[in-house]
Amino acid sequence: MKCPQAAIFDLDDTLAESFRPPTSGMVTKLRTLLDLMPIAIMTAAGFARIENQFLSELADSSFISRLYVFPNSTAECYVYKNKAWEIAYSESLTKDERLSITEAIRESIAETETFPAHPKYEPMIIDRDAQIAFAALGLDASLEEKQSWDPDKAKRKKLVTVLEKKIPQFEILMGGMTTIDITRKNVNKAYGVRWLSERLGIPTSEMLYVGDALYPGGNDEVVIATGIQTRSVTGPDKTQIVIDELVKVCNKKINASN
Ligand SMILES: [Mg+2]
Repeated sequence: MKCPQAAIFDLDDTLAESFRPPTSGMVTKLRTLLDLMPIAIMTAAGFARIENQFLSELADSSFISRLYVFPNSTAECYVYKNKAWEIAYSESLTKDERLSITEAIRESIAETETFPAHPKYEPMIIDRDAQIAFAALGLDASLEEKQSWDPDKAKRKKLVTVLEKKIPQFEILMGGMTTIDITRKNVNKAYGVRWLSERLGIPTSEMLYVGDALYPGGNDEVVIATGIQTRSVTGPDKTQIVIDELVKVCNKKINASN
């Protein structure tokens, strides 16, 4: 592997098991890598969850200013300035837009046979300003229940097909195991990659994206079109190996240039 000038990581099933915080071992590795290059985290998750789960453990790094956090499918970016996380940009949806998305989801559920989704759980619509997330099993289902609900995405695909007809003016993405995320058109991880490339003045081809869903139809696949280098992982264990490799090749590069 060649040492990239910046590294981007997906969160769920890449830096951490789904919906769980990264292990302290992973956080330590991220800190080590942050000493060497800018790092970004791109995820469909909301900022509150990321902040609660692990950002405080990174905040005292001397290089914290080069950590970029992109929640809500990169509809927003947060950076650390003056001891606080602040918004670098937000592709917020207007109140009317959020209302029409919410209505379209309700109508689509009513028109799609797959719903109600589960005998035990009610679907939930979560409004996070820059992204509306539809959680088919709500928030309380166990990991196992989520995993077994729509493993081939067939249920969500039906809903997405209906949604695409109703609200073609928005970006409709399948994320995680049970969710559909809706943002402003063309706001997806490729948007985040291009924004970061411009902000850092580093060509996308000199950056590396690490994710578990780079396969066709996966929620990381969109980044490939930006020309970024990619590394596919099957979970946090593999990601740790990639970070170790990065630290090794990038340390070598620094030593060689000294
Ligand atoms: Mg993932």
